[in-house]
Amino acid sequence: MSFQNTLAFAQQLDAQDELKAYRDEFIFPQHNNKNVIYFTGNSLGLQPKRAKKYVEDVMNDWANLAVEGHFYAEKPWWDYQERFAEPLSKIVGAKPSEVTVMNTLTVNLHLLMVSFYRPTKTRYKIICEEKAFPSDQYMFQSQVQHHGYDVNDAIVEIKRREGEHNIRLEDIIAKINEVGDELALVLIGGVNYYTGQVFDMKSITEAGHKVGANVGFDLAHAAGNIKLDLHNWNVDFAAWCSYKYMNSGPGNASGCFVHEKHHQANLPRFAGWWGHNKERRFKMEPDFDPVHGADGWQVSNLPILSLAPYLASAEMFAEVGMDKLIKKRDQITSYLEFILHEIDAEIAGTEFEIITPSNSEERACQLSVFLHGQGRNLFDYLMKNGVITDWREPNVIRLAPVPMYCSFEDMYNFGQILKEGIYSLK
Ligand SMILES: *Cc1c(COP(=O)(O)O)cnc(C)c1O
Repeated sequence: MSFQNTLAFAQQLDAQDELKAYRDEFIFPQHNNKNVIYFTGNSLGLQPKRAKKYVEDVMNDWANLAVEGHFYAEKPWWDYQERFAEPLSKIVGAKPSEVTVMNTLTVNLHLLMVSFYRPTKTRYKIICEEKAFPSDQYMFQSQVQHHGYDVNDAIVEIKRREGEHNIRLEDIIAKINEVGDELALVLIGGVNYYTGQVFDMKSITEAGHKVGANVGFDLAHAAGNIKLDLHNWNVDFAAWCSYKYMNSGPGNASGCFVHEKHHQANLPRFAGWWGHNKERRFKMEPDFDPVHGADGWQVSNLPILSLAPYLASAEMFAEVGMDKLIKKRDQITSYLEFILHEIDAEIAGTEFEIITPSNSEERACQLSVFLHGQGRNLFDYLMKNGVITDWREPNVIRLAPVPMYCSFEDMYNFGQILKEGIYSLK
């Protein structure tokens, strides 16, 4: 499709947008009595209006039923997480028994590593991406140290080539083969948080398995953003936070995936009573008998007040479906890219450079833009003028035109504000 950098064209795209009604389902912060242009749904998604009712229902059940709410609330608390199985399994391409919701992301990755990172004297190395999200780096380091290995020896990072912004799949595969018999675990982001690069999880999983390693993914930037097919890709485990693309609210619960092939195996894990055989959970028996399925990794009873807004949001995703979201995502991201190129051409400068891959296979919602010109001042200008983006050192802003609630008109208006900013700072 050929685009135009005009208001009328952007409005025409909005008029044809199948998801346009969903914009009204979200609450936007206001700037001069208008919705901000919100590009940070990859960091904290906007609040769905439906979320409040779900939270209020729990508050009311708590008030009216108190402890009896565990069994007699309209959505009983004792197995509340089971309501996520259907919608989440569709979002991540899993069987319902392969997904659960609990804790938070880094905690869940640690818990899953207890089961899937079982180093031995000869097979103890972890492959991850260079400059992984800091929490993941700290996690790898502490896991490796916990097992008594040397961080510099046991953690193998896949590097970008000199002068390149993204990691090549061939380099990932080559590294997996090179580490070979020493490789215990491959654990990388499904979508890199900094560049927005989407990794080929199917090929990476295959390569990891071929050398005898487990393969897991941190899907913080992938869940609710890209098409996932975790079961068929044969991924061993994965986890994601829900407050980014999935709009569940700050610090909210994380989703987990454990492949069906591991359900019967009684893998070692850090256990708690919520992972115990459901029928007998309240018999208070001494011996742990895990639920077969991802629910068997549950530890504590559930934070219902925080799960409530996540459920509201997960149901909304199920209602829309990933296919429609992805269709709009690709169109709006391409439109944003087009506008950035137009402005770059118009100012005839080298003000910025998009470091996210340009091919649609390797990118999703996010465009990361390296600001060569005014950098931080330009970022501040945008923020002061109602464009919410985020700043990542040394000189990058990340723009996520989230398809569920961003409009094409937002993209056009953003372009105008960006241009004014560049001129006014010159
Ligand atoms: C956002 C993000 C996290 C955050 O972890 P929490 O435990 O939820 O604080 C972890 N890893 C990646 C890749 C992220 O993008």
